[in-house]
Amino acid sequence: MTATLNSMTMPSWASHVEDKLAPMPLLLVQAFVDTLDRDLGTDIFAQPDQARAWLADAGLRVPDPGRPDPDFADDLRLAREARESIRALIGRTTGNEPLTADDLAPLEKVLGQAQPRLEVTADGRVPLGPALPARALADGLLGLLLIIRDAQADGSWDRLKLCGNPDCRWAFYDRSHSRRGAWCDMASCGNRLKNRNLRARRAQAS
Ligand SMILES: [Zn+2]
Repeated sequence: MTATLNSMTMPSWASHVEDKLAPMPLLLVQAFVDTLDRDLGTDIFAQPDQARAWLADAGLRVPDPGRPDPDFADDLRLAREARESIRALIGRTTGNEPLTADDLAPLEKVLGQAQPRLEVTADGRVPLGPALPARALADGLLGLLLIIRDAQADGSWDRLKLCGNPDCRWAFYDRSHSRRGAWCDMASCGNRLKNRNLRARRAQAS
């Protein structure tokens, strides 16, 4: 399922983000962190089947169909823990406390498990892999870290922020000229919920 938004084709794995979208490929990092919606009390990773489907759709974990799918419980735990690590990384953009060893531990685990590869392609580029889709979750999460590294190099990372509402912590992309946006929504954090409720009511009415 895709929807067109601001002339950009929305990938189905980002349909829950809705607005204040980061450019591709940083959108994948934003969508991963925003799989947990504290505002609505929903979590795409709460149910193993839903988590497995989302991770596959996003290309972060696409098990080889020719092999038995490895146990998902460990991967699901790693996905949830890495999500909070990356949320903490984004929090540093808005001047939160330095990251602790606990914050970083899940990403250290990813770095220990993943198998990055440097390639030279026929068109002369030298990408660091693994290319998405990834067979193993650690490789997919390593792909997210590489996206973060590139965004830090080109400056777009500084616009990816966490909502200033401590009960929300939604990741949003600040396109404002001043770069001083602090909330997941223009007026107040709660507007996002109100807008969604309004949309849901309109959808029901039509
Ligand atoms: Zn918010």
